[in-house]
Amino acid sequence: MNRAIFLDRDGTLNSDSRDYIKDLSDFRMFSFTPQALKILQKLGFKLILITNQSAIARGLTTQDEVEKIHEFLKKELLKSGVILDGIYLCPHHPDDNCLCRKPKTGNIFKAVNDFKIDTSKSYFIGDSEKDIETGAQAGCKTVLVQTGIDKKEETMNWRIAPDYIVENLLYAAKLIEEMESQ
Ligand SMILES: [Mg+2]
Ligand SMILES: [Zn+2]
Repeated sequence: MNRAIFLDRDGTLNSDSRDYIKDLSDFRMFSFTPQALKILQKLGFKLILITNQSAIARGLTTQDEVEKIHEFLKKELLKSGVILDGIYLCPHHPDDNCLCRKPKTGNIFKAVNDFKIDTSKSYFIGDSEKDIETGAQAGCKTVLVQTGIDKKEETMNWRIAPDYIVENLLYAAKLIEEMESQ
């Protein structure tokens, strides 16, 4: 069985935008992302992106443009020796009622099946309530990062509270590294 770090994209690996990330010119990876993922990869985790991109269903971007962003992301990470093991995308609109849009667990369980992952030894890192719900429902430990649009998210009224709250992805990686060493 493998262990994984499930990662949200916008607001977690790169800065988010209320106008959506429509093409490569909108995509800004955080400077600490490669270092953070390197730490997690070295610990033996599979790195798996689980992302909602309703901008596709909304007609604001296309599957092709999103793939270009993901090719760029993979190439940038590879410069630091980081391999993104999988990318699971939901292109649907919230009203489509698909099974793959977070907080639904369709995509995460697809990845669990593809990579034979033990979710109880895995983490979900994201910046929103949807990420925390997805991870928790799948049996992962959850880490909230505060680099989303709403920066300091108010978690008090959430249905499911995150297990950990940290400043950003690098702190999340360092936290997991520390817990692994115990
Ligand atoms: Mg996000
Ligand atoms: Zn979907």
